[in-house]
Amino acid sequence: MADENLNTIYLNHIKANMNFEAEPCEDFYEYACGNWYRNYNSSYYFDAAGYMEYKVNKQLQEILNETKNNQNNNNNNTIYNMINNAYEACVNLDIISVNPMLELVQKELQFIWPIFTETLGWHNESDFDWLKTIAILRTYGLNGVFLTTHVNVLYNDGSQRVLELQQHQSSLELLYNDIEEIFINFGFNINQSQWITNNVIDFQEELKNISFLQYISENFTANLTYQNNFKLLTIQQLQEMMPQIEWFKYFEIILNRYENITKFQVQCFALNPDYYENLIYLLHKTSKDTIIYYIMLRFIYHLNRNLPFKRPQDCLTYLRSSMPLILNILYEEYIFKSQRFEIEEVLKEMFKKLKFNFEKIIQENYLHLNEIEKSYILEELLDMKLKVGNVPLNRSNEYFQNYYQDLELNRTDFANNHLNLLKFYHRKDLAKLFENSSLTDFYSYDSVSLATSSPVKIFDNIVLVPHGYLQMPFFHHKLAKHFQYSLLGFILAHEIIHAYDLFHIVYDHKGNYNYMGSLIAQHFLPYIDCKYDTKSFDNISISNDLLSENMADISGLRLAYQTYMEMIENEILSNHINLTSEQLFFVNSVQFLCANMWQISILNLTIPERSHDMHDLRVRENWKHFENFSKAFHCKPESNMYPLQKCRLW
Ligand SMILES: [Zn+2]
Repeated sequence: MADENLNTIYLNHIKANMNFEAEPCEDFYEYACGNWYRNYNSSYYFDAAGYMEYKVNKQLQEILNETKNNQNNNNNNTIYNMINNAYEACVNLDIISVNPMLELVQKELQFIWPIFTETLGWHNESDFDWLKTIAILRTYGLNGVFLTTHVNVLYNDGSQRVLELQQHQSSLELLYNDIEEIFINFGFNINQSQWITNNVIDFQEELKNISFLQYISENFTANLTYQNNFKLLTIQQLQEMMPQIEWFKYFEIILNRYENITKFQVQCFALNPDYYENLIYLLHKTSKDTIIYYIMLRFIYHLNRNLPFKRPQDCLTYLRSSMPLILNILYEEYIFKSQRFEIEEVLKEMFKKLKFNFEKIIQENYLHLNEIEKSYILEELLDMKLKVGNVPLNRSNEYFQNYYQDLELNRTDFANNHLNLLKFYHRKDLAKLFENSSLTDFYSYDSVSLATSSPVKIFDNIVLVPHGYLQMPFFHHKLAKHFQYSLLGFILAHEIIHAYDLFHIVYDHKGNYNYMGSLIAQHFLPYIDCKYDTKSFDNISISNDLLSENMADISGLRLAYQTYMEMIENEILSNHINLTSEQLFFVNSVQFLCANMWQISILNLTIPERSHDMHDLRVRENWKHFENFSKAFHCKPESNMYPLQKCRLW
């Protein structure tokens, strides 16, 4: 049953965010969100999603305080002690610096970094071994330096895990000014700093030139497919094919295995033996100083990635990104568990209705799919699951204690903790290769999906709704369907459509690559032509990710709207903003995108979440393509939100 009081609060909240001075047909974003910034004025967040994040952090902060005070009762509860130790070590840290971390790894590397040696010349030069160095640092998570390795799914069987090898990744670039500053901070004078920086930048440039990745991109017409990029080779075969590199040594270190390694299979992506030959040539002609500085700088960037520079306020964000599973477990235990049943009931029904309606949309067959193509889509839809809260369910406390048993964190040594965490995740990553975990486990422990706080379609045919979004002002299980099906309903619909976006379409319901997906993507061309005025995928200037986001918005809106209209049919809502039900749907569908656009533009912020357009642009460019939008607001053909041509995908 809906709670009247709650509905009133919710409606007042929407009303307060709206700017009634704005004209919905001209600037719908301003109309729906124009006053948000007055209600959410803070330097901690700039948009509605950021506010939810902030709220979750505050909730977790309270939980941590509580568990800390109860620590005597929880003495045998290692994971609570662990997170409290990590938190304390972060909060009590005076100065944050990567130096102690660089020093700590020296023992394993068996050399002293040149920046820590007294003189300019580097003593360790003669026995410096680049391969061993990058292999050891790989076990701390450093990746993409000369070689790239990932645990991935086997290219032709999504149920199996394999170690994948690629060449150097030049996407992360060291910048001249940053490096120079780092060397000056290490105590070098300007001339020395500039000299080393120049060498490193030159080396980086040469590396970039040899590591251009040549792979077959998904070609929707040719017989060659993306799958042709993959080759399975044993380490023995790799060694024979490219003897210049001591592959055995490299894999022994990163896999922490010394037996039966010759037959171990590696999945090579876009394997190009010339690259490895050129790499060896480049490393031979470059001074070892330059190479070690380059590796060190990449390692510093890696260590720096999520460090809590402002303390104590960044400590929670740091913990959430470095130990997401524990925090999710705490959130589940202390906050979510008591209402999980009720929330799941509402969400499961919503998900079921959305799936059912999407099936109807597919059967309408606006895309003109043939029967085989249709069943490819339907098979995945039928199989699609909803996951509420990103925590593995039905696991005992002992299970989690076990999971973390080889992680050591103390309450004083932040640097050591940070390195231990990096090593821990490398071991967990490898465990996926050797322990035959199910696909669901593979992704539920994936740190990306664990750390996300906004809903996401994950590879394993699951739509994940993290805890944080399932509270006010976004959601409550006692709210009227009018509110539930417009905001969260739209978000879920958007994620369902993502299953068929340009990235996901080529993977079937089992997560296996399937060429059928490419054929279906051909049917998207009339939509692409309509929205971007081009007749092929090759001539589009925006990224595939952005294309996919816009698809998910445009079709998600249609799907959510149809479902909403069905669900509210018999619901009476005292609506004191004088919006029609249709108008309320559209206004609430964008509430999660409300932001302080002015702040965002002066601070030049980018949105971290995937590759959506900025919130306001996203709403202006996508919402107008749904014919029921202009109907709901009686927009005239010449207005901004009424394009001459409305582009429909599904
Ligand atoms: Zn999306």
